[in-house]
Amino acid sequence: MSNPDLLLVGAGHSHLGVLRRWARGQRPPGRLALLSDSPHAWYAGRLPGLLAGRYTETDCRIELAPLCHAAGVELLQGVVTGLDADERRLALADGRTLQASWLSLNVGAAPPAPEQRGGGMQVLGVKPFAAFLAAWSEWQRDPQPLAIVGAGAAGVELALALAGQVPELSQFCAGALLEGGSPGLRLRALGHLRQRGVSGREHCPISHIEGQTLYSDAGAVWHGPRLLLASGSQPLPWLTHSGLVCADDGFIQIGRTLQSHSHPRIFASGDCASLPDAPRNAWQATRQASQLAANLSAVLQERPLARYRPPRQRALLVATGDGGALLDWNGWSAGGRLCGWWRDLCDRQFILRHQV
Ligand SMILES: Cc1cc2nc3c(=O)[nH]c(=O)nc-3n(C[C@H](O)[C@H](O)[C@H](O)COP(=O)(O)OP(=O)(O)OC[C@H]3O[C@@H](n4cnc5c(N)ncnc54)[C@H](O)[C@@H]3O)c2cc1C
Repeated sequence: MSNPDLLLVGAGHSHLGVLRRWARGQRPPGRLALLSDSPHAWYAGRLPGLLAGRYTETDCRIELAPLCHAAGVELLQGVVTGLDADERRLALADGRTLQASWLSLNVGAAPPAPEQRGGGMQVLGVKPFAAFLAAWSEWQRDPQPLAIVGAGAAGVELALALAGQVPELSQFCAGALLEGGSPGLRLRALGHLRQRGVSGREHCPISHIEGQTLYSDAGAVWHGPRLLLASGSQPLPWLTHSGLVCADDGFIQIGRTLQSHSHPRIFASGDCASLPDAPRNAWQATRQASQLAANLSAVLQERPLARYRPPRQRALLVATGDGGALLDWNGWSAGGRLCGWWRDLCDRQFILRHQV
């Protein structure tokens, strides 16, 4: 393919929404392409359920080829290793380069890894999902004590899904468990974790790993063979060196039109972007899709761009790995099977909406 007019990079939540809208007939004119490192997009919300044995892999991912075909977008497969923002040129792991008149980045983020001194401990990040799932199935052949770093919604869901699958499970987080959640939600989550035998430690940032020992500033906090990283997120290294201006948190600084502050021909959305009042999660990335689709169409047709106002997320549903879920709604919490049914319905609808 010759250089596209617009290249969507990464099959994140925002780009899936863009493709869905274009498949419905709102496609702008021009040569459009999606670059993805995988033939499918994994849906993080169902990953804990997959690990708990509640879903199959096909329940948790969206095939990109039919969606791209319906949207009139060429699907390119490759792993980005570098970006020159001035030239809008991407370097791929296989040596190819790709350039486009307009770029849209929706490549997510990765959990930060503590410094590892010496070998001894096996360390696995929860992203990229395909690599994580392959390594996890290897680990499952020989279950060993496990520590999880991170106790946001993803970390708690993973701990509840994996408890019982390993001989001992410990969880560490830099702040409070489910920070930002209501006290009721936190109490309910603590109850579930205790019931499943997960030993947790809050306000315990992990500084480094030495051999098979985890250290915080206060000293050694855990000794064991395996560590799973599910904490916060940090920008992908190749974005940091791209020349794009980044915010204080290290992510691409964008404005209300979802364009980079420094390079307006580059859009960014979801976890890889930094926008005031827009927390980094799948819900927010999904909400950005409609604005992104409209603005990408607008630049290709030289129309004025609209401004995105991040909506406030009122409900949070945390899956408990047993078919139930915990609900946090404006500071009010609940839990049980009905919440689990609601959570499953939301996840199922997301997958179905993007299946062609
Ligand atoms: C286990 C788990 C459970 C979670 N549960 C929830 C939840 O219930 N609710 C919620 O709101 N959030 C949840 N999150 C957080 C959520 O997954 C992220 O906030 C969300 O996925 C971010 O979406 P995104 O569109 O920015 O990017 P992503 O969904 O991360 O997609 C990024 C895409 O870019 C691709 N990509 C990355 N690097 C490259 C590269 N170098 N080259 C080519 N392609 C690349 C990836 O393969 C992927 O397709 C969870 C996270 C985890 C880990």
